[in-house]
Amino acid sequence: MIPEGALDEARAQYRSDVILGSVEEQVSRQTELERILGVVDVDIFVPPLSFVFGEARCPGSAALISLFRLRPEFYRQRPDVEVFLERAEKEAVHEIGHTLGLKHCSNPFCVMHFSNSIFDTDRKQSLFCSRCQRKIESLGAP
Ligand SMILES: [Zn+2]
Ligand SMILES: [Zn+2]
Repeated sequence: MIPEGALDEARAQYRSDVILGSVEEQVSRQTELERILGVVDVDIFVPPLSFVFGEARCPGSAALISLFRLRPEFYRQRPDVEVFLERAEKEAVHEIGHTLGLKHCSNPFCVMHFSNSIFDTDRKQSLFCSRCQRKIESLGAP
């Protein structure tokens, strides 16, 4: 899944755009797939950001999330599987939303709100706000 060349050795982080490119290649090889979500467990970034929780084509068929910064342990907190899965769900729905063509939403509780930190992720819900929901429906997406 993680292609050679994605690792930035100096930063000890992986380029999300490079990984997303290889995720996208997989969907183009498998014609029965409409869209694909890649999940990695390494720290990812794309300049100029110091890290990202995920990246996606907007619109497009490929999305990527990283689990690396979603565990409470990363923030020196007690392990909590429920919190971890909730965060993963939000980030996955967020990136899939981008593949449907949704941009970032100003509503901090909407899943399409940009997560600058884990606090943003914890504040937002795994649901689209009514405005984003209407946009999806107008696109005719499932
Ligand atoms: Zn986003
Ligand atoms: Zn929204």
